[in-house]
Amino acid sequence: MPHGRNYRDPRRINRQARNLARQRLLAQQALCAICDRPIDDTIAWPDPMSAEVDEIIPVSRGGSATDLHNLEKVHRCCNQLKSDKSLAWARRKVKGTPALKPTAMPFITSDW
Ligand SMILES: [Zn+2]
Repeated sequence: MPHGRNYRDPRRINRQARNLARQRLLAQQALCAICDRPIDDTIAWPDPMSAEVDEIIPVSRGGSATDLHNLEKVHRCCNQLKSDKSLAWARRKVKGTPALKPTAMPFITSDW
């Protein structure tokens, strides 16, 4: 390729900007954007509870990989659940999982 010595590969610059944005987000955000639970930064990837950065609008659909407004910090397991679905879908999915509400009446078995 006829590039001079000072040629800067735009893909490489994008990757640097992307990494910078991700590092900033990981430092800023404490809670998972999907389940709202804290993310422990000391848990190493690929543990399901480790931190991942997800793009709200995927880059493949025109979203920005460097705009912090388009990035969210999520658990790896939450990100896998979300897959290619929307953030709203994933949040509903996580919160909609059957769980006992504190206000729910206890199930009383009668043995008389
Ligand atoms: Zn989560």
